[in-house]
Order: sequence, then C-alpha cells, then structure tokens
Amino acid sequence: MHRQQYLKTFCAVCGEQCRFSHPGQAGAVGSRDLDTRPSDPLRSTIYAWVQRCPACGYAAPDVGKRVPGAAETVRLPRYREQLGNRTFPDLANTFLCWSLIQEDAGKRGRAAWACIHAAWVCDDQENDVAARLCRKRAAALMKQARREGDLLATQDGGDDAILVDLLRRAGKLRDARTTAEEALTRHPEPLIADILGYQKRLIERADRGCHSIDEVRRLRGLSPR
Ligand SMILES: [Zn+2]
Repeated sequence: MHRQQYLKTFCAVCGEQCRFSHPGQAGAVGSRDLDTRPSDPLRSTIYAWVQRCPACGYAAPDVGKRVPGAAETVRLPRYREQLGNRTFPDLANTFLCWSLIQEDAGKRGRAAWACIHAAWVCDDQENDVAARLCRKRAAALMKQARREGDLLATQDGGDDAILVDLLRRAGKLRDARTTAEEALTRHPEPLIADILGYQKRLIERADRGCHSIDEVRRLRGLSPR
C-alpha cells in the first residue's frame, strides 16, 4: 500500500507553478508482462510516471527539469496536435508528447519507452485502436534505436523479446514472427529463447492479447519468480 502525496514544482519551460499527485514508494509483486510491464502496485502508479504543465503543455517525468530542446519542441505543431489528440487518452498523449521531446533530442530508445508506456495507458482504458497505434510507433522507434546501437533492455536479447511483443500486440503478426525467428538464430539465453518460442505460438494463434513471463515459466515447468 502507498499513501498519496503531492509534489509542487515550477515548469522548467514556462515557469508555471505545478502541483502533481505522487504515489510515494511502490514495488511490484508477481510477474511482469511480456513487454516488461510490472505488476501491481507499481503498475497502477503509471499516472505519476510523467507530468504535464497545465500552462505550456511541457510533458516530462519531471517538468521541473529542463531537457535540451524541449522549449522548442513544445511549440511545434506536431507537439500541439499530439497534446490534444482525441484518438488517445489524455495520459497517453502526455507520454506521446514526452516521446516527441526525446525523439527530437535524438534519444530514440527513450522515445520508444514513452510510446510503450502510452500503450499501457490505452490498455488500461481498453482503447485497442489507440494502443495499437502506440505500439506501432514504439516498434518503429525501437528499430531506429537498434540501428543506432541504442538498446532498451539491459539483458542480451531483451530488445528482441520486447520488439516481438510490440509487433504482435500491434497486429503486425508476420513482422513479429520474422523478428522472433531471426532473434532465435542468434541463440539467446534460455529464458529469452523460451519467451520467443512462446511468442511464436501466440502469433500462430493470432493472439494479440497481454501475456506474462510467468506463463512462459509455467510452460517450462520452472518455478515462478
Ligand atoms: Zn510550462
């Protein structure tokens, strides 16, 4: 359990005084999803992972901190359009705007993560159309990031596993299968290989749903961690 707290900060772009609710410390109990989404209570604190200045629309994990180029990006038409895009839930737009700031700063790996977080917000609101759009954007950014040697996961092969999940859940099943098969030829460590094998089974069934790493462990008769 955690207690709600409030944070006051000044926007680093426009100077507006902002107030955000903050969940305090939260851990995760149980298995992550295949795209690394943690379980509760951490899972439910996603609303606090990004902030939006109510005055200028600056979106960042901490709007009190200035990110190079952010003041310029927040004024761009693409950013303003994303901020109020009604295809997506408000919180997803905040993550997608943070993604644009990171993308403009050349940090495509971080931009991809922000899109993945936006997808999770859409999942929670059962907005499948928006979730698929977020995952497609995340997958495209992730592919660019990989070409630049910018990896999302610290674990070897972890990026392959995340990318396959993004593509599968975005409905790009053929691309997902090819990516999984290519990754398996690189002989990843056993858990990643098992995850990729499980992904292939899900792809064959055209299953676009959310699945957890525990399902993979159970299939292999391994004890859940
Ligand atoms: Zn501001």
